[in-house]
Amino acid sequence: MENIFNYTKTELENYLVNKGYKKFLASQIFDWLYDKKEYNFDNFSNIKKETIQFLKDNFTTDFIEMTKVEEDTDVKKFLFTLKDGQKIESVLMYHNYGLSVCVSSQVGCNMGCKFCESGRLKKVRDLETYEMLEQVIAIGNYVNKKIDSVVIMGIGEPFDNYDNVIKFINLINDPKVLEIGARHITISTCGLVPKIKDFADLGLQVNLALSLHAPTDEKRKQIMNIAKAYSLKEVFEALKYYQDKTKRRVTIEYIMLDKINDSKEDAVTLAKLIKDYNVYVNLIPYNETKNIEFKASSQKQIDIFYNTLKSLGVDVTVRHKFGNKISAACGQLRSKEI
Ligand code: SF4
Repeated sequence: MENIFNYTKTELENYLVNKGYKKFLASQIFDWLYDKKEYNFDNFSNIKKETIQFLKDNFTTDFIEMTKVEEDTDVKKFLFTLKDGQKIESVLMYHNYGLSVCVSSQVGCNMGCKFCESGRLKKVRDLETYEMLEQVIAIGNYVNKKIDSVVIMGIGEPFDNYDNVIKFINLINDPKVLEIGARHITISTCGLVPKIKDFADLGLQVNLALSLHAPTDEKRKQIMNIAKAYSLKEVFEALKYYQDKTKRRVTIEYIMLDKINDSKEDAVTLAKLIKDYNVYVNLIPYNETKNIEFKASSQKQIDIFYNTLKSLGVDVTVRHKFGNKISAACGQLRSKEI
């Protein structure tokens, strides 16, 4: 039996029409699920008994289980248990512009970034679309508020689960589902070049973030396995292709690792690398974890790096550090559990 949250409206319409039902039934079902937040088919009161039985025989509305919540003033971190017992995590952040959820796209990750807890634990499997969608719905229901934006930046490399992630984006963007505007959705990649190009071809107005983390191939290879597959030249060619197609500004994510990528010279090299692109740089203070040897750059070093970029005309911000009291590093909550 398939989870009904895996279906876009068009897919559900096609399915139902094939089974001899009216297309309109899909609208009624979507109204119950996403507008009325009713997940028990038996309570779909405007649908005939036999049709409800058909739905029960063919679909579930099962939710992933919210197993643990860690809370701080500006952030909540959620551990979910999936049907097969696998664990994933999601984060709710309170910004001054609204509520944002960071979702996981895979159980673990095969990209093997050396500073990352999820990379250390390797990929177990891709998430299905409903498992991503339900992270957002469950968190919205938990706080009883509308989620304003979604970032696909949790556990996993979204472009390594491309089809399910694109369907997830289409669903959360659908006005009949979660109605999250494309410009309020961000997908983050460590640099899967062919998929950046495929994504460009879709022409979506979704934000793209590139996890660069080092300004040279040599340094990047030290901390990111993906750099062994694709050079910076190839990554930036893909970025150009994306920007030519979409005219969208891209975020360059740069994690600040003590004595690895945080020198003034690194900042100068980074400024040169990106000077011809419409990008802004987001410096990310590192959350240390006990299993990984990297240390976070000091505030002083972050300030020097930031000021060097600024002085070279780079648009740069330092990411707000959420949740000092909880398992702040991405993947840390899950890794503690397993
Ligand atoms: S940083 Fe992202 S892409 Fe890299 S290993 Fe971790 S989850 Fe995967």
